[in-house]
Amino acid sequence: MTKSVSLLSDDDIAVLKESSLLVGRTLAEVAKKIAPGVTTGELDRMAEEFIRDNGAIPGFKGLYGCPSTLLISVNEQVVHGLPGDRELREGDVASVDCGVLMNGLYGDSAFTFAIGEVTDDVKQLLRVTRECLERGIAAAVEGNRTGDIGYAVQEHAERNRYGVVRELVGHGLGRKLHEAPEVPNYGKRGQGTKLRSGMVLAIEPMINMGTKEVKQLSDGWTIVSRDGKPSAHFEHNVAVRPGKAEVLSTFQYIEDVLNERGYYVATPASGQVPTQE
Ligand code: MG
Ligand code: MG
Repeated sequence: MTKSVSLLSDDDIAVLKESSLLVGRTLAEVAKKIAPGVTTGELDRMAEEFIRDNGAIPGFKGLYGCPSTLLISVNEQVVHGLPGDRELREGDVASVDCGVLMNGLYGDSAFTFAIGEVTDDVKQLLRVTRECLERGIAAAVEGNRTGDIGYAVQEHAERNRYGVVRELVGHGLGRKLHEAPEVPNYGKRGQGTKLRSGMVLAIEPMINMGTKEVKQLSDGWTIVSRDGKPSAHFEHNVAVRPGKAEVLSTFQYIEDVLNERGYYVATPASGQVPTQE
């Protein structure tokens, strides 16, 4: 565990926050358009144009050979779904992951959308996954370790009898999209990399309604749940601080649009975020 973890200055964190907020605004554009009959490719083209119009560049496109601006993962797809001709349908859930690079620093955030009416089971999955993210963020304070974040996420997911994906993890964020440390969504308290003020983390629970087991499709990208049950994914960027993490990304723009459209918004149950001892 000697991989060096970069700490960002407050000035750099302010710049990175602008990237994170642009991701939030891009996902709000997606929120305006996402509906039954819309293809994932249309959403991707719109997002790329929006990001470039705002003076940034897509953060994923071209990285590791990624062909797209968004990664859109529908239903049993967990993450890394490639946009294309697929039409979204009433009752689908689609996690939309987006990165941007602006002024040398990356933002990287994801939101899972319910398309039209979805089942109560799916609503609960979305709500619990949001709560997992909130709990992970609450653990991202100076002096804790990455294992405290993973523990908080895993404990809440498994108490709801959901599967926590092991193969994909959160990460440090900065001048590169993926930096040390890894931020698993499972773990043991007091283990892993020690968190220091100025570390910026992408915390991103990937929670399956059924088994935790996943497999990759033959496109070399898409990760799906092995049992075909739905999966959800929410991601925020946070700066580690003493006492309380500073959340740099936002879902507010997305939620404003969804509320106006009457689309389901997964709201974490209030008062359930435990304080870390
Ligand atoms: Mg992401
Ligand atoms: Mg990420």
